[in-house]
Amino acid sequence: MKSFAYFDSTHEFPEEIIIAAQMNPYKILGKKDFSTELADQYIPQFICANARSFLNQALEQSSNWEGIAIAHGCDATNRQYDIWDQHVKTPFLYYFHNPLKTDRIAQRFFIREIKAMITTLEAHFNIKISLDQLETAIQESNQVKIFLQTLSKLRLTKDISSTEYFDVLKFSVQNPKEKVKPYLKSILSDWITRNPFPIDKHPIFLTGSDITHSLWFDLLEKVNLRVVRDDLSIGERYYATLIPTDKDPLANIANYYLDIPRSSTKHPTTPRINYIINACKTEKIQGVISQIIKFCETFAYDAPFLKSQLEAIHVPVIHLERDFTENIDQQISTRLEAFVELLEQSQ
Ligand code: SF4
Repeated sequence: MKSFAYFDSTHEFPEEIIIAAQMNPYKILGKKDFSTELADQYIPQFICANARSFLNQALEQSSNWEGIAIAHGCDATNRQYDIWDQHVKTPFLYYFHNPLKTDRIAQRFFIREIKAMITTLEAHFNIKISLDQLETAIQESNQVKIFLQTLSKLRLTKDISSTEYFDVLKFSVQNPKEKVKPYLKSILSDWITRNPFPIDKHPIFLTGSDITHSLWFDLLEKVNLRVVRDDLSIGERYYATLIPTDKDPLANIANYYLDIPRSSTKHPTTPRINYIINACKTEKIQGVISQIIKFCETFAYDAPFLKSQLEAIHVPVIHLERDFTENIDQQISTRLEAFVELLEQSQ
């Protein structure tokens, strides 16, 4: 199956359009080796390394993809379309506008954007994307989300490492859905038989900038912190809600993307904070880790408010700024160990 890549700073691109166009939506997450050298020629290093690593991957691997879509996301990435346009070799580059708000005007705008993208894809690839194909794509997408919801719940009761969870999510956003479904089924039959949640691990909620490499989860595991809930886009934001099926598929897709757990790229920030607080109140969560990748101002702005809201309800919280590196950061490791001590004292 042909792949069509997309670049969004959180979870802003409606991949169902690509599924309906009979291509595999591939989420660009940077290469395993953390490389940014090629992109650093065009984007200054005070811009977050996630975005630079995405461009780096596109500069190296765009010939694998039929085209690329960039979705309106954070302030840093919104301005990078022209750089991609100038330097990434691709036969098709498209900018998808995703509204900041969630009201009726935003919904109408979103539907118009979906229609515009469909029209452009049809013209460029000489295809037809019917409403029936969109319905089928929604069903496929929901089937994956239902699997992920079931797997995610097991994190609370079974011995499933944060790294394993991340690997499953990463596979799910980069591979064809017909390959993802049997894969998730086999993961489910494994996870269901796992040992109970280990007593030496501290269940935590993880929030902040998207994490694109498993190394950070390895670090959490090493200091006995276990992610049982999150609101990341390579995480719960991707599957927490299902795409509705009650209206026409265009409205259903638009409503879904306006209704998912919010990120700091959207305003106001309250729904995002409420999602975290609600998880802390309803699950056995000992603390919250808020982390940002260096220069991610989007999530940095929200961090003090998030911290104060969690402290007000006596939920231990730590905020960290991390480097984009393939090495374990010893300073952060030490701070996490201190956080674990705090969690142990507060139990
Ligand atoms: S990490 Fe932050 S600055 Fe970077 S792409 Fe994501 S939201 Fe934007």
